[in-house]
Amino acid sequence: MPYVVTEDCIKCKYMDCVETCPVSCFYEGQNMLVIHPDECIDCAACEPTCPIEAIVSDDTAAGAKWAELNRKYSAFWPRIVEKGAVPEDAKQWEKTPNKFATHFSAQAGASHVAYSQPGRSDRSKSQDTARDGDSDFA
Ligand code: SF4
Ligand code: SF4
Repeated sequence: MPYVVTEDCIKCKYMDCVETCPVSCFYEGQNMLVIHPDECIDCAACEPTCPIEAIVSDDTAAGAKWAELNRKYSAFWPRIVEKGAVPEDAKQWEKTPNKFATHFSAQAGASHVAYSQPGRSDRSKSQDTARDGDSDFA
């Protein structure tokens, strides 16, 4: 059962989680990260590193709700392996509820350290991705 990133990450994006992952399966959106469910080895190393508890197992209610979003966007956002610059206003968004509905961005992140991966060669397509299917997760 893989771990997933929930909507609590949106606009916080502290990225403390990425460097703890032994298989580098975090992917970066403009204002949140997701975990690739087929790459996650369920080690739980990342879960306690998130200061806002935005990482949960997909066998929890919160995890199940956001599992499809993690699967969808990890397929075309770029991999992130190093912590980037934290948003200056991250703190003020920590307690904001329902961030997906009003603040989710489908655009790829820019602070990532990307590298090529077999079968996932053209990751730049994600830069202009529309928010199709977003209602699936709200
Ligand atoms: S540590 Fe938590 S808030 Fe920060 S990027 Fe990772 S999941 Fe998001
Ligand atoms: S549970 Fe382990 S493998 Fe999965 S994202 Fe977290 S650190 Fe990476």
